[in-house]
Amino acid sequence: MKLLYANDRRGEYPPSIYAETCAALDRFPPLKGEVRADVAVVGGGYTGLSAALHLARAGRDVMLVDAHRVGFGASGRNGGQIGSGQRQEVDWLERQFGADTARRLWDLAEDAKALVRALAAESSVPIRDGVAHACRSGSEVRHSAQMAAHLAGRYGYDKVQPLDRDALAAHLGSTAYVGGDVDWGAGHVHPLNLALGVARLAAAAGVRIHEGTHVHRIEHGTATQKSRVLCDTGRIVCDHVILAGNGYQGRLDAKVAARVMPINNYVVATEPLGTDFAEILPRNIAVADTKFVVNYWRLDDDRRLIFGGGETATYRFPKDIAALVRPHLLSVYPQLRHIRITHAWGGTLAITMNRMPHFARPAPNCLSAGGYSGHGVAIATLAGRLMADAVAGQSDGFDAMAAIPARPFPGGSMLRSPLLVAGMAWYGLRDRLGF
Ligand SMILES: Cc1cc2nc3c(=O)[nH]c(=O)nc-3n(C[C@H](O)[C@H](O)[C@H](O)COP(=O)(O)OP(=O)(O)OC[C@H]3O[C@@H](n4cnc5c(N)ncnc54)[C@H](O)[C@@H]3O)c2cc1C
Repeated sequence: MKLLYANDRRGEYPPSIYAETCAALDRFPPLKGEVRADVAVVGGGYTGLSAALHLARAGRDVMLVDAHRVGFGASGRNGGQIGSGQRQEVDWLERQFGADTARRLWDLAEDAKALVRALAAESSVPIRDGVAHACRSGSEVRHSAQMAAHLAGRYGYDKVQPLDRDALAAHLGSTAYVGGDVDWGAGHVHPLNLALGVARLAAAAGVRIHEGTHVHRIEHGTATQKSRVLCDTGRIVCDHVILAGNGYQGRLDAKVAARVMPINNYVVATEPLGTDFAEILPRNIAVADTKFVVNYWRLDDDRRLIFGGGETATYRFPKDIAALVRPHLLSVYPQLRHIRITHAWGGTLAITMNRMPHFARPAPNCLSAGGYSGHGVAIATLAGRLMADAVAGQSDGFDAMAAIPARPFPGGSMLRSPLLVAGMAWYGLRDRLGF
């Protein structure tokens, strides 16, 4: 099934609070006929927009196409959390790849946060500081304190403040967790405004953007022949192709599809809390807990609670997303049981076998990045810049990410769905049983 069209109206943003409150852009026209460009970018989320922006600023003639709208995908509907580090923590990275590689990957992730902050500032999109991690067991609390000390001692990163049960409860306005930490170097943002902000910068830098333009096939070029990006409404003849479709990309490239699995996640927004419930997030931080199917939340500038959580094992969104997420919200904030949920939406992200992103060169003139799990706000934005650098011949950063091993899912892209069903059922059960 084409996830691009399974759950949404063609060319429309989902019914999210973000789409309702964004600084909207006029529609970019679909591509018509055959056009030439130095680089064609497929996908208008953080990955593609950042790649296009950096390429254009480096003097390339860039065309970006999206089947729907810029920011239509995960980039316009996520939890807005700009996390530190990679999706896997540094102790895991050290064990897997050694201290030097772990350090390099940490530094790249710090670059990613700095890049998001710089682009947000350039686009006048505010970022609020602080993301708490809420633990469900004593061993998780001990591990988070060890990691805070390790990051400070070994990585020179001293912005993670360990919190005991009471201190965390005071930050959250909830006693649902036993302790954790708050990372003051992480932050949160209106995710669609961030995407639209980068799109504005890209357009101003000369990127030709075409919405409503679905790429259905790519004919990769050779040393003597250009690549051809075949769209429903036209085609791009170009030197380089960048694949940035992430969870929505389908089987555009078979090797990427075998390693990057789409997965759905759900979010709700409440009515504004006004001056009530002053105990909830008094310092306006965002929160993520330690469940495998993670709960994450933050307040927006109107003091609506935006809460993500809940899983389904099919690629179709459930009919009643609010009913799916509400029990998770109430498990943290039972005091909100009479508060109305005004918006509910789903989105598709992508995961890999080892939960680290997959950077690849599917063909000599083609670069691809995706599979960021729930950690793409910063890393996808960086991925775009690293691909732009690689097109310009400076591929150190891209190669460091591409060196992370990426095993295909058993059975490849054809068996991803049944595997997802089994995996989600198993991990959902683990969360419910509390281990
Ligand atoms: C509900 C949810 C919550 C999340 N929360 C967080 C969070 O709090 N923090 C965090 O860091 N990450 C989070 N993530 C993950 C993060 O949003 C993603 O990793 C990131 O946005 C990926 O960006 P992207 O540009 O690679 O992909 P996307 O933003 O999904 O963009 C891909 C684009 O490609 C287009 N496309 C795909 N195929 C084609 C084609 N064949 N032709 C034309 N266009 C095509 C799509 O229309 C889409 O617009 C969340 C994701 C979801 C879904």
